[in-house]
Amino acid sequence: MANIGFIGLGIMGKPMAGHLLRSEHTVFLHTRSGVPDDLIAIGGIACATPREVAQQADMIITMLPDTPDVEAVLFGEHGIVSGLQADSGQFGARRVVIDMSTISPLATRVFASKINDIGHDYADAPVSGGDIGAQNAALTIMVGAEEAIFERIKSVLELMGKQVTHIGEIGAGQVCKIANQIIVSLTIEAVGEALLFVSKAGADPQKVRQALMGGFAGSRVLEVHGERMIERRFHPGFKIELQQKDLDIVLTSASALGIALPNTATVHELYNACIAHGGAKWDNSAIVTMLEKLANHEITKKTE
Ligand code: NAD
Repeated sequence: MANIGFIGLGIMGKPMAGHLLRSEHTVFLHTRSGVPDDLIAIGGIACATPREVAQQADMIITMLPDTPDVEAVLFGEHGIVSGLQADSGQFGARRVVIDMSTISPLATRVFASKINDIGHDYADAPVSGGDIGAQNAALTIMVGAEEAIFERIKSVLELMGKQVTHIGEIGAGQVCKIANQIIVSLTIEAVGEALLFVSKAGADPQKVRQALMGGFAGSRVLEVHGERMIERRFHPGFKIELQQKDLDIVLTSASALGIALPNTATVHELYNACIAHGGAKWDNSAIVTMLEKLANHEITKKTE
């Protein structure tokens, strides 16, 4: 049984922390927007600051929006590092910070080395599978860590995910997540274009979606995001602003490596356009609304 800290209880973090609370572990919680009552009701212990979490937990998980948020929670005033340094000696051994947010792989390596410098361990463990995967403890989890650290945290990660893979050293989880985001965001855009074409050509997008599901064009994106596009359900899910942030990370990392990702750049522009139209908090499937503006046609409208 471990004392686990969990910081960041949003769309993803709240159900993930819930799975830990339903296991044998003791869970210390903190989030900027206030710890939800239903997590307290099943045994969660609310903490006022990340420092307070770090003082009581031997594994500290973060599930925050972006790189600056993780940096602030780690190194800011009342942050995790101040809690680790105030260690009463209760734990003796090295403790481990597990960042499950999607953030920059370069910053991840810097954060890890600072945590190592004060005598503790670090792993990056970003996820894929969305809000549905988080609710069903069915996330795909991509881990960057030393082998021994991976072995230490694996059973805890398996409480939240179905496929937990050790990709490589620190930062490798975030590199894998970048590959995931390239494939997912381009596929969402492709599904949007296809459904828009179908609708303008006078066919039923729902029937086409169902027909395509079993063939080579079939995917979780066609299933989940395709349905959201047809039903106009743009409540998140995965917010446009987070998808745009992820593609920022992809393109900045690609620039640092000196490679061009032309189609990722185009899709990034469509997410920028979505934000310009007030869609920062919409679900990422709402990228279809920008394609509709270009086509001057909505996929749910019949062609006259
Ligand atoms: P969210 O905006 O719903 O939740 C973020 C949480 O972090 C909020 O509860 C907020 O209060 C908290 N927070 C922010 N700054 C904080 C701070 N300084 N101190 C304490 N708490 C703070 O975001 P989400 O959808 O849960 O995504 C979290 C991470 O998971 C992101 O990196 C995202 O890219 C990634 N992700 C999301 C999905 C998805 O489908 N939503 C899927 C895969 C990965």
